[in-house]
Amino acid sequence: MHIIPSFALYFAAKVREEGYDPAEMPWRIALIGAEPHTEETRQRIEELLKLKAYNSYGLSEMNGPGVAFECTEQNGMHVWEDAYIAEIIDPATGEHVAEGEIGELVMTTLTREGMPIIRYRTRDLTRFMPGECACGRTCRRIDRIAGRADDMLIIKGVNIYPMQIEQALMSMPEVGQNYLIELIREGYMDQIKVKVEIKDEYFVEDMRALQGLQKRIASSLCNEILVTPRVELVMHDSIPKSPGKAVRVVDLRDKE
Ligand SMILES: [Zn+2]
Repeated sequence: MHIIPSFALYFAAKVREEGYDPAEMPWRIALIGAEPHTEETRQRIEELLKLKAYNSYGLSEMNGPGVAFECTEQNGMHVWEDAYIAEIIDPATGEHVAEGEIGELVMTTLTREGMPIIRYRTRDLTRFMPGECACGRTCRRIDRIAGRADDMLIIKGVNIYPMQIEQALMSMPEVGQNYLIELIREGYMDQIKVKVEIKDEYFVEDMRALQGLQKRIASSLCNEILVTPRVELVMHDSIPKSPGKAVRVVDLRDKE
C-alpha cells in the first residue's frame, strides 16, 4: 500500500478495532510519504501493521510520489539522479550548504519535456547522506524530510520544528497515535500546548493519576525543544482526524 503515515497509524487502529489480526492480512509493504514523519513513527507502523514500511519522497510539481525512494537498507532515500538534479541550499542565502548539512531541497527535472522545472525550491528540509549505500545503488540519498522551511515555530526565541515534538512523543509507549500542537498566548508570551492521545490501557478518568505521565511527557519534550510546553492528555481518538495530510499545528494566538 502507498499511504500517508498519519493515516497508516489511524488505519492500524481501525484494523484492530474491527477484530482483524494484522499478521494474517495479505499486505507486506507500505510506501509511506507525503508528510514529514520520524523513525519512531515508521517503527510503530511496521509493528502495528506487521509489514515493512519504506519512506518515499515526491511532490506534485515534479511527478508526484517517486522522486526518491528508500531501498531495502531503509537508510535514506535514493534520488533518481538520472531524472533529477538535486541540490541543498541555505533557505536564507540561497547558497549550497556544506555536504551533510540540513537545508532546503532544490530540484531540477532532466527528463520532462512538456513542463521542465528548473531549480525549483521545494521548501522541504533535508540533507544528503554521506557515503555510499550498502545496497550498491550509486544515486545519492536524502535523509527523511525534517520539516518544511516554513513550518518552523519560534517560541520564546527558540526555533522549534514540529518533527522534534513528534520524535519525543512517539518514543513513549503510553502515547497513542495522534497529537496536536497548539500555539497559544499566555499574557504577552507565546506558548506551546501539546495535546497528546494516550492509549486506552493507560487512560484513567481520574486525571490526578495521570499527572506523573503528564510531567514525564513535558520534561521529555523540554529536553528535545528546550522549552517546557503545556501538556494535555486526551483519550484515544479524541483529536479530530483531518481528511488528507495530518494537521499538526494550530495557531490559536489571535483567537483567544
Ligand atoms: Zn540503497
